[in-house]
Amino acid sequence: MIKEELWQAVLAQIQLNTSPANFATWFKDTKIISCEKGEVIVSTPNSFAREWLENKYGKTILKILRNLNEEIKKIKYIVEKAELKIFKKSFSSIHTEKLNGQLEFEQFTTDKETNLNQKYTFENFIVGPFNELAHAAAWAVSKTPGSVYNPLFIYSEVGLGKTHLLQAIGNAVIKSFPEKKVKYVPAENFTAEVIFSIRNHNIEKFKAKYRAIDVLILDDVHFLAGKEKTQEELFHTFNALYEKNKQIIFSSDCPPKAISFMAERLRSRFEGGMVGDISYPDYETRIAILKNKSQEKQVNFPDEIMDYIAANVQKNIRELEGALNKLTAFYKANKQIPNIETTKTLLKALLFSPEKAINSKKIIQTVAEFYDLRTKDLLSASRKKEIVKPRQIAMFLLREKLKSSYPFIGRKFGNKDHTTVLYACGKILKEIEKENNENLANEISLIRQRISSG
Ligand code: ADP
Ligand code: MG
Repeated sequence: MIKEELWQAVLAQIQLNTSPANFATWFKDTKIISCEKGEVIVSTPNSFAREWLENKYGKTILKILRNLNEEIKKIKYIVEKAELKIFKKSFSSIHTEKLNGQLEFEQFTTDKETNLNQKYTFENFIVGPFNELAHAAAWAVSKTPGSVYNPLFIYSEVGLGKTHLLQAIGNAVIKSFPEKKVKYVPAENFTAEVIFSIRNHNIEKFKAKYRAIDVLILDDVHFLAGKEKTQEELFHTFNALYEKNKQIIFSSDCPPKAISFMAERLRSRFEGGMVGDISYPDYETRIAILKNKSQEKQVNFPDEIMDYIAANVQKNIRELEGALNKLTAFYKANKQIPNIETTKTLLKALLFSPEKAINSKKIIQTVAEFYDLRTKDLLSASRKKEIVKPRQIAMFLLREKLKSSYPFIGRKFGNKDHTTVLYACGKILKEIEKENNENLANEISLIRQRISSG
């Protein structure tokens, strides 16, 4: 049996005894890369898949392999693509949008120096009552960086145009002031840079780099919640830039006050300039956005279809675009505009996706299943160690996924006090972020995947 067949046979048997979600989580992108002298080498895509395969499925896999080939004595699990890749990915300079693997839309490259993506401009940003203020402030900043609203802080829920607007400022500044050094950084990358600089003892280089910037755009700062070291570096960077009248622009998924686990001094910096929000687009604006985007894609959909999308996607412009992309893909593949019935079928998965159906029950259930507990145990008052931890994780995820309030979460878990919940969430965060508990972080990211995959 050649190694590909061998692994296929293993996967086939495992699949019989595992849930689809589990199977996808653990076995995706795994393969046998060699089988020699009784040793099989299995490659896995990342270190946590490796660990879990080894620890949780190791025995089963070995048993199946032995049944297929009794000479096999040992399995070695390796990570084929080095860990570095994850890090690199977040710095990747190519932006591609794949649609069901069928079509690739325009590929825009992001500029290596600025990290800006040229596709985000003021020209293709539709303004309506819901984003008027944020747009006006952004526009003003792009005309005279460093002198009007500093810092500029834009917040909204996901998919409503923060990144677009922030990058539009950057692109406009570059155009009007080519000598200015602009840098767009997702907060996640900023954190990674801080961590790597500390680890490699070149924080000075990091400091020098950030202090030479004229317009610093930091996207999604809510991501810094609980990351104390990064917050500290940001605080110093902010002060250094601010003193020199350099422009700083932030975005977040909530107003500064509502970002949890954020140092007070940083929060007050966030609030020190102009804070603007983006709310939900009204119906007219949704139609305008759809029309504009379909023009860009050079497809003309009838009003009935535009109306159907605008009526069903109300709170997320990315989803509006996603719907349009899907219909465009259909059009390109079939050379035909879908009718309304086909449209409904095509958009069903998108409009009524499992991500939308996430609720507290589902989160609690997923956590319970993950740790082989009953939901009842998780909700009980038991102080047993093997229950306390999963319960804290469930609280943490309720907070993260649903933004539930602490008292709400407390009530879910048998009327616990909100301070208990606060403690639980803080503790989990601290273990992941500060104490670098990798196992815990991996477990939680797997639970997240399961919650999202239904
Ligand atoms: P956020 O950063 O708030 O999650 P994005 O900026 O990524 O949202 O926006 C999601 C998608 O919607 C992007 O493709 C963006 O170009 C588009 N978009 C958002 N707001 C507008 C707008 N006002 N006009 C045109 N396109 C928009
Ligand atoms: Mg964004």
